[in-house]
Amino acid sequence: MKIFGLTGKSLSHSFSQHYFSEKFLRENFRGCSYRLFELDNPEHIPEFIHSNPEICGLNVTIPFKESVIPFLDNCDDEAKQIGAVNTISILRNQKKTVLTGHNTDAWGFENSAGILLKCEKALVLGTGGSAKAVGFVLKKYGVQTLFVSRTPSGIHEVSYDDLSPGMVADYPFIVNTTPLGMFPEVEKFPSIPYEGLSPKHILYDLIYNPPETVFLKKGKSAGAAVMNGLRMLGLQAERSWEIWNR
Ligand code: NAP
Repeated sequence: MKIFGLTGKSLSHSFSQHYFSEKFLRENFRGCSYRLFELDNPEHIPEFIHSNPEICGLNVTIPFKESVIPFLDNCDDEAKQIGAVNTISILRNQKKTVLTGHNTDAWGFENSAGILLKCEKALVLGTGGSAKAVGFVLKKYGVQTLFVSRTPSGIHEVSYDDLSPGMVADYPFIVNTTPLGMFPEVEKFPSIPYEGLSPKHILYDLIYNPPETVFLKKGKSAGAAVMNGLRMLGLQAERSWEIWNR
């Protein structure tokens, strides 16, 4: 039995298990299963992997994407540059088990956003693990990016209170990387001045459960184009699968 899985603190929102279970059936990967492993602390991840030798690869989600890094043996170059990991590959030999961190969120975001990366300016809500992957891709495409944080630091970050409708109007591409609105707290949404939105905007929510968050609904009511995180989920999952099977 080859076991793959997802680890994080609270996983009830995740579609990853469903995604991989369908993939294994469809592509006839007998003997593979994908499970959810809720852990309290990223520090426990290496011990968990060491004591479960049938585990062949893990995805990492909220809130461990950054905090897991010190507990891994190394990270690939892209994960190092991003500063966040959502995939762990496991090399087991007789002497040692080597855990390497990778980031496939960047790949998923880049390939799902496509033409949207031609915009001049983007506003990214949140500064966590996925925001770092999104910011990495936006920088690669030369998109001028402003991050919105509850605790801003540095010249590229502002607080929610700093945002005016005029500033929102000035950033045609807005990406939500916060968990606000994610199942089960579906009534929540990021606190931005939505009155600054217009049909010139594109709102991208990394959340895919529910498929249309309040953030996206508000965008739609203002005539903006909207996109959820479902395509990114599939792309990052397939990239993780490639990494685990190298
Ligand atoms: P994370 O590392 O915990 O970062 C989330 C960030 O959101 C935090 O750093 C924080 O930024 C902000 N935030 C958290 N709680 C907030 C609150 N109550 N109010 C306002 N801001 C808040 O999480 P993550 O791993 O980046 O994941 C974030 C979301 O993206 C989750 O919903 C996840 O499911 C989704 N996601 C989807 C995909 C996909 O493939 N579609 C991939 C990755 C992530 P500040 O402290 O700066 O405010």
